[in-house]
Parts: sequence; structure tokens; C-alpha cells
Amino acid sequence: MSERKAVFIHSEELEQYSYPADCPFKTERAARTRKTLYGMGLLSGDGISEAPPVSATRPTLKKFHSARYLHAMKNAEKGHWELDALRMGLGTPDCPIFRGMYDYAALATGATLVGVEMILSGSAHVAFNPSGGYHHAFPEKAAGFCYINDNALACMTLAEAGKRVLYLDVDVHNGDGVAHAFYGRSDVMTISLHENPALLFPGTGFEHEIGEGQGRGYCVNLPLPAGTFDQAYMHAFESLVPPLIGAFDPDVIVFELGTDTLAGDPLAHLYLTNNTYVEIINGLLRFDKPILATGGGGYNVENTVRAWALAWTVLSGQELDQGMEAALGGVMLESTDWQGGLRDREMPVTNQQRETVLPALERSIETIKANVLPLHGL
Ligand SMILES: [Zn+2]
Repeated sequence: MSERKAVFIHSEELEQYSYPADCPFKTERAARTRKTLYGMGLLSGDGISEAPPVSATRPTLKKFHSARYLHAMKNAEKGHWELDALRMGLGTPDCPIFRGMYDYAALATGATLVGVEMILSGSAHVAFNPSGGYHHAFPEKAAGFCYINDNALACMTLAEAGKRVLYLDVDVHNGDGVAHAFYGRSDVMTISLHENPALLFPGTGFEHEIGEGQGRGYCVNLPLPAGTFDQAYMHAFESLVPPLIGAFDPDVIVFELGTDTLAGDPLAHLYLTNNTYVEIINGLLRFDKPILATGGGGYNVENTVRAWALAWTVLSGQELDQGMEAALGGVMLESTDWQGGLRDREMPVTNQQRETVLPALERSIETIKANVLPLHGL
């Protein structure tokens, strides 16, 4: 059993809120992850605990968002919707207005910030808020199901405390709001691995976007071809991410753990299994730095719940051997089509997939190796 203290952040209060039924973003994923883990006995024991969120206050949110935007959000949920709000992305199909929208966003952000505080105080080495990960929100714009950017606020708070922050975003969509917030800074390095932005929202995150001024080389974007599979992904990851983390030498890692990269996600076109998430997390744990993990995208609810539950077992040092996991997971996960535990089956990869994915991926890796790694002496 690990000596690292790990905290899972959630409360029933978060379960009161949901986006409109026709919106693909399902807040219930966090509660279902918690229920699965609780049933498996993985939320208590040596060094393992749970903590409830505390709503982020308006002054805290104003560190990243404009007063005008927060005001428009509050007004919109009360029914006072203005054209100005639409210009800020509020009331669009991706960011619908719903009852409790502001309160939910403030509470979900507060959950991430509880993790920040626990890491800063030393009361946790690992914190996971599955209700976080709103990486597309900008200071004055809601986008992609995101209203308040908890990831950016977490990085800002840690940086204000004098920490060097490595932000790693493995959501299938580019972590644009966070990258933008730190584009000119060298104390927060942002690394985003995502599906080719020529094919997918938000349309940013090409290899040449590497930061500017003092931040040049501290924003890293790795676009992934449609159809990217486990071995291809890990080859790209290993080629770039551990060397960059080693060179940057962060004090804390903020990890956006979207699972919309998984095969079968209805909004994207990658082909990963959750076994890749285990490898990524093990890769991060080797650096022996505190890790604040948040949720993110993931529109196949079943797959997301399993991936997050699995991620927690690895983050908290409770990884089960496969037989035990299958026995426990099969019982706990109300899955209709997969009774094998938390881990996904391996996926078959076709030759055609290899031929289309690997050359394009290699070009992106080589571009980053040429443009970014030398800026870090690599
Ligand atoms: Zn996403």
C-alpha cells in the first residue's frame, strides 16, 4: 500500500445539478464513479479519504473570469438573458442555460480548489475531483460545456503560491482555455494531447502553437490523428511528455483526465482503451510529485465511469490484480455489455489504421522535437 495520501472529492450536493437532458454532458458521471469505488471499498483505508467541495466564491472566480461574465451567468440562470450573454457563449447548444448553472459551476470549481488547498497544505499528495475539468472556458466566454475554468484557476492558485505547475491535458479536445491563460508564462507549462484540431472542436492546438514571449516553449500541443490506438498514443506520449516533465521539473502536476479519447465516444474519433490511462498515470507517478486530477470530457458514460474508477485505483496506489478487479468490478459496475472489471479489453488494430495513424503522428512528434525540445535543452 502506498504511503501517499489520496483524497477523492465529491458530495451529494453536486448530485443535485444536471445539464438539460438533451445535452451530452452528464454530471452524474462523478456520482457513479464514486458509487463504484465506494462499493469496491476503494475510498477508505490507509491514506485514502474523501472530502466534500466548498463553493468557490465570486472573488476567487474573478481571478480568471470577468465580473461582467459572472454577472451575465447569474442573470441568465434567473431568466434575465441578454444578447450580451449569447456573445459570451451563454445559451448556445454547447453551453445551455439551466437552473443552478452558476451554483453548479462554482461548486465543481470549488471541488478542484479544495484539492489545490489540500496539496498546498500537504494533507494530500493526490487529489481527484471527477466533477472538474472545464478546460474550454475563457475569461469572458463559455464554450464546450464549460462555464468556469477550474483547471486554469487551479494552476493560477498553485502558481501564486510559488509552485511550478505542469498542466497535462489528455482530453480528446485541446485544453484551449488553460493554454491561453498561460501562453506567455514560463511558470506554468501546459501540455495537451488531443485529436487533430482540423477535425474537432475547438479548432486550436496545432504543433506550431508553442507559447509566446517568456512562455515560448511552455505550451505544447500534440495533435493525434483520428483512429489513434493505444500503442501509437503511448509511443507519442513517451517520446515527448516524460522528457518535458523532467526538464521542466514541476512542483505539482494538474491533470485533466477527459476520457473522450476512448473508443466508442460519440463525440470524437480516437480508439484508445483505458489501459492507456493506467500507463499515463504510472508515467506521472514516477516523478513523485503531487497530482491534482480532474474529470473532463467523456460522453460514453459507462466507459467514463470505468476509466475514472480505474484511474483512481492507480492514482491512490490501490491498483488491484486483474482477477480481483474482475470479480469486484463485474459486480459493482451495472454494466450491460462488459463484466470484466474496470479495465477495457484490448482492441484489435487494423493494418489500414496503422498506415494512416503512424506516419501522421510521427510527423507531429518530429515537429515538436524540433521546435520545442531544444528550448528546454533536450
Ligand atoms: Zn473533451
